[in-house]
Amino acid sequence: MEEKAQGAFRRIDGIAERNQWKVIEAFKRHQVSDFHFAGSTGYGYNDRGREILDLVYADVFGAEAALVRPHFASGTHTISCALFGVLRPGDELLYVTGRPYDTLHKVIGKPGDGKGSLRDWGVAYNEVALLQDGGIDWPSVEASIHEGTRVIGVQRSRGYDWRASFTVAEIGEIVQRVKAIKPDVLVFVDNCYGEFTELLEPTEVGVDLMAGSLIKNPGGGLAETGGYIAGSRAAVEAASYRLTAPGIGAEVGAMLGTLRSMYQGLFLAPHLVGQAVKGSVFAAALFEQLGFESKPRWQEPRTDLIQAVRFGQADHLIAFVQGIQAAAAVDAHVVPEPWDMPGYENPVIMAAGTFIQGGSLELSADAPIREPYIAYMQGGLTYAHAKYGVLTALRRLVESGLIVIKPHMS
Ligand SMILES: *Cc1c(COP(=O)(O)O)cnc(C)c1O
Repeated sequence: MEEKAQGAFRRIDGIAERNQWKVIEAFKRHQVSDFHFAGSTGYGYNDRGREILDLVYADVFGAEAALVRPHFASGTHTISCALFGVLRPGDELLYVTGRPYDTLHKVIGKPGDGKGSLRDWGVAYNEVALLQDGGIDWPSVEASIHEGTRVIGVQRSRGYDWRASFTVAEIGEIVQRVKAIKPDVLVFVDNCYGEFTELLEPTEVGVDLMAGSLIKNPGGGLAETGGYIAGSRAAVEAASYRLTAPGIGAEVGAMLGTLRSMYQGLFLAPHLVGQAVKGSVFAAALFEQLGFESKPRWQEPRTDLIQAVRFGQADHLIAFVQGIQAAAAVDAHVVPEPWDMPGYENPVIMAAGTFIQGGSLELSADAPIREPYIAYMQGGLTYAHAKYGVLTALRRLVESGLIVIKPHMS
């Protein structure tokens, strides 16, 4: 299995190496020093560590500006802040990559839902479903862009959908095409799970605004909470007013004791992302050999951490997720069960034996319990852990009598 994957592994190592250099160069350019890790209290005025961290992120992502904060409670909160920052009543948000990630449905909301969703504030929403082959339905996008269209939404990663993720090159093409139709639209990218899986990030190919979670890729397994927004100076500033208060923006926000882990996590992120991506390739290769369908296929190039495996039956899916949990260093004795998680529309089962609660650069797996029963696994701070997790999951499937390994496969 690993023999066969050597070529793919070498490609992944090459990307990790280049991104590692890119991160170190940004640290050097901004003269990151020990005193930047100290962390402010109270208002957090003149927190040099916070200001430099924003500049380092902007540099690494090839953006004009960035906002990196522990005050973002989750990826959804970060994305919500970015969208509310740039959208105004009467504007429309148009997602061109189909239905966004589950937790964003309530951010978009329904008119008059009383929850303060975008719709509740008079921001219109529309989406164009992806074509059968996972591509963008350009005739429909063209027909859907109108005077009020203000933000084009793009989700890079597959989320909980059986579709391909969008590569950075494809995102660059989306920018070109939508701006050719309407030059003043802003392109927003939900970059969750994408960071450091390729040589470039969406903000390096013309995206105006992107957001992601620090308990995913760029936190490097060390950031204990938080999110980042990066993009044009104007768009990031608009988001900063939403994060704190109009007129105050990025000038305040005590970083407390979070800075060292955010810096060190960013430093480690390219390598750890590489480890996790190798784990995904291993999982795909193994389960494909067992006759399951996977997305992406093991040898396909990657643009995010997520490995989807289609099990077709709920009990297979549940056994797989429970097997991933059983391989964890933390909470391996806990057996996950499906539950109704806030923000999700179906019961969800999650394996998250992690040092950071819900941290999914760490080995984790989750799945909404709905047909066709697809497991989404991601992460692994070390390749050895990801491999151990996949093998433990397989053992659980075999021991439960759910799958039978034929001799030629072993
Ligand atoms: C994880 C994720 C989110 C939301 O992040 P949370 O931290 O779970 O709120 C949004 N979009 C995508 C594609 C994600 O993977």
